[in-house]
Amino acid sequence: MSEFILSAKGITKRFGGFTALKGVDFEMAPGERVGLIGPNGSGKSTFVNCLAGALTPDEGSIVFRGDDITTLPSWKRARAGIARSFQIPRPFKGLTVRQNIEVPLLFIPRENAPKADEVDRILASIGLLEKADASPKSLSQVELRKLELGRALAAHPRLLIADEAMAGLSDGEVVEIVELLNRLNESGIAIIMIEHIMKAVLAFSERVIVIVAGEKIADGEPHEVMKHPEVERAYLGQ
Ligand code: ADP
Ligand code: MG
Repeated sequence: MSEFILSAKGITKRFGGFTALKGVDFEMAPGERVGLIGPNGSGKSTFVNCLAGALTPDEGSIVFRGDDITTLPSWKRARAGIARSFQIPRPFKGLTVRQNIEVPLLFIPRENAPKADEVDRILASIGLLEKADASPKSLSQVELRKLELGRALAAHPRLLIADEAMAGLSDGEVVEIVELLNRLNESGIAIIMIEHIMKAVLAFSERVIVIVAGEKIADGEPHEVMKHPEVERAYLGQ
């Protein structure tokens, strides 16, 4: 068995004649906290879409918990334990907060069927138990981001990908989301955090990887990576 929960090798993705990802290699240990940074349009979302299955890479391979998932559809990857939250929360507006958590639970294979208190546990872990019966329309931005993460959690992930879960939030709200991600991580979930807010990236990440123009240019200890000349250049140039 590999020591990695995830091993992506040579991930290349083209959109027509444009190559959005150029042979990206990435490995992740179980329970690891990784920050993924890079300028706008550098390929971060494309990369995690290739991991979670919204996109299939044109070249390369992805092994997750010992299985080759390179060409699996996203729902099978979700069942295998990969969950993601989206940059723009997409709750079911006609349902309550609680029902929004219940819907993804319906898709869990029966052998992992949730216990009765699971929905309450998820609601408590995202701090929305008191709003269980409210409509998502009444939630604030930060509460909507928490609900989005709660929906991802309902699938029992071993790897959670949070794509810009903090964009547009206040400093205090950013801290709340970082704390929430830390709690989830302590429960054993590996997390990839895509984020522009450097304070949050540095507070959260054990390791940072940098994608610039479709290539991984750095991968290592967060403060070392931030000193990398190409990283400085990429951010100054933005
Ligand atoms: P990031 O998340 O780092 O801001 P993206 O991965 O969203 O960047 O985009 C990387 C590049 O790929 C951008 O130039 C973007 O316009 C392009 N791109 C992303 N998705 C598509 C798509 N579905 N079709 C065509 N081009 C795309
Ligand atoms: Mg993006």
